[in-house]
Amino acid sequence: MSARPPRPAAPSLVGVDLGRRFEDGESHVQALAGVDLVAAPGELLAIVGPSGSGKSTLLHLLGGLDRPDTGRVLLEGQEISRLSGRRLALVRRRRIGFLLQFYGLLPGLTAVENVAFPLLLDGVRDAQARALAALASVGLEHRGAHRPSELSGGEQQRVGLARAVVTRPAIVLADEPTGSLDSATSRVIFDLLRATAAAATSVVVVSHDPLVERYADRLVRLEDGVVCAAASPPPSVTSTPAVTVG
Ligand code: ADP
Ligand code: MG
Repeated sequence: MSARPPRPAAPSLVGVDLGRRFEDGESHVQALAGVDLVAAPGELLAIVGPSGSGKSTLLHLLGGLDRPDTGRVLLEGQEISRLSGRRLALVRRRRIGFLLQFYGLLPGLTAVENVAFPLLLDGVRDAQARALAALASVGLEHRGAHRPSELSGGEQQRVGLARAVVTRPAIVLADEPTGSLDSATSRVIFDLLRATAAAATSVVVVSHDPLVERYADRLVRLEDGVVCAAASPPPSVTSTPAVTVG
């Protein structure tokens, strides 16, 4: 009897026909129009394109930081673009990890406190132990007692990534995560994002960094708010991830 082929993993995130228009007095900007996008577990998807092409707007819609004027966003099958503000805030905190260019760490908290923060908001009892494990997964177990001002930019971004994954989210969304870093440090961050994807989380990265093309499984190129080409084939969501967690 032949073995059954493995079932394709359900997508973590689906965007369908996404549109967003910004009004500015008499004028308007159609920042996105008709964008479709799927992110699968284990996949590192890069959104690329020139400045002003709508990359951040798209990431904000995917992460429930903004709402589309047209279309919908489904996270793990749930249509998050229709949720109330309160329920959406919970989904963002529990199921989505965010990584931003300027780290966004709380300056008065130590590294481990920053990482534990989203768990403490939910009253998770082993928050400290999980935060330490997340810090170890980015190679910073020895820096837990340091405040952000005592850490390099690359270390702060690694703390940011530990905080993004500590809740074991369905997806990590990163907006220019290497925009403030030198190329050697950027490689460390991309390696960690690959390892995050390999641990069955989806990762969507918006980036100008030419390095991203070497790390991504797939590129989605935006121009004037429209997807102009999938620069590489759609993912095989059953494939074995290329990198294991270090
Ligand atoms: P990218 O991240 O690719 O540089 P953005 O998504 O930030 O591009 O912006 C896409 C377009 O939408 C730009 O023309 C930008 O000026 C406009 N835009 C983005 N956010 C707003 C906003 N809140 N209000 C008005 N215009 C906006
Ligand atoms: Mg942007």
